[in-house]
Amino acid sequence: MTIHKPRLLTGDTPTGRLHLGHWVGSLENRLALQDQYDCYFLLANIHAFTTRAERPADIRQSILDVAMDWLAIGLDPMRSTLFIQSEVPAISELTFLFSMLVSYPRLMRVPTLKDEIRDKGLGDNYSFGFLLYPIGQVADILAFQADIVPVGEDQSPILELTREVARRFNQLYCGVDSQTEDKAYVAQGGLFPIVQTLHGRTRRLVGTGAPNANGVLLKMSKSLDNAIMLSDDPDTVAKKVMSMYTDPKRLKASDPGTVENNPLWIFHETFNPDKAWVAEMKTRYRAGTIGDVACKKQLIEVLVNFIEPIRQRRLVFEKDPAQVWQILRDGSAKARAVSDQTLQLAKQKMQQNFL
Ligand code: ATP
Ligand code: MG
Repeated sequence: MTIHKPRLLTGDTPTGRLHLGHWVGSLENRLALQDQYDCYFLLANIHAFTTRAERPADIRQSILDVAMDWLAIGLDPMRSTLFIQSEVPAISELTFLFSMLVSYPRLMRVPTLKDEIRDKGLGDNYSFGFLLYPIGQVADILAFQADIVPVGEDQSPILELTREVARRFNQLYCGVDSQTEDKAYVAQGGLFPIVQTLHGRTRRLVGTGAPNANGVLLKMSKSLDNAIMLSDDPDTVAKKVMSMYTDPKRLKASDPGTVENNPLWIFHETFNPDKAWVAEMKTRYRAGTIGDVACKKQLIEVLVNFIEPIRQRRLVFEKDPAQVWQILRDGSAKARAVSDQTLQLAKQKMQQNFL
């Protein structure tokens, strides 16, 4: 008897390399769940085009970079399916079909879209495709009939949209009653499970830069040049930490410092395993009996200890990109088969199966 594991799907946009925010927001959970779930990890290259259509070579390079980051942290192609979005056409077809189930005003209320438009300075010049990408993400998830999606906080509204589309599809085309509880949709004949969101221990890690005009620290992001990468060498980590934003009012070590909203302490709390040291030094920082530099030096040590083994494992894959492309080809073939099947079932339910 085959036991079907529940499905997990998540992914990353190939707009650069992976950073510490990805680690605490999603990667840690992916690693922990690789055995319990049938895992699909997607490289969202079509979504990368929504903000950088004029840079195809960069997107191609980033696919390889993110895939190498995945392999270096321990996502395992023997247990999980690693694939490229554009190699899986059913996703695009489902995007089109699902876009009819979301009203335009509903789409424009997705906070993730608004935040990205603001944080990435897109102004009014974003493409039509940019607006379509939340529905593309709905299709990424539903194409695999996923049960769970580990993501950072910024993605929560898109997961809510995914649940809405799945409920609506199941009600409209599979005859599921609208009063049905989320967990009972499939048992009642629905095609799509109502997906669960899984957040990491830090839902939104801040970047190394100063706050925005509203005093809010921006999230660490590949596109905002405020990230410490999982592939940064020790010198780069040291430079980024030494120049990171801390308490701007503190001019010398004897000034009392503020710990709240201070990336230096957010990073220590997130990554420093020595909780007693962090607690004691926070008290001293507030009292003005320890300087920024000493605390930053300690943070460099903590981060280098964490990142260096990942970077070393990555070097092995960097020497053999052909192997990485082969893993993605194999994964994409499997993802294509699974999602084609979902698409056929969706078309049947929609009475649009003709051949
Ligand atoms: P981009 O700037 O191109 O949007 P990104 O850094 O936001 O890149 P994504 O590929 O959009 O990265 O996100 C991949 C996953 O990592 C998502 O689940 C997202 O929620 C999570 N994630 C990204 N940045 C952070 C962060 N700073 N804290 C927690 N989770 C994060
Ligand atoms: Mg993002």
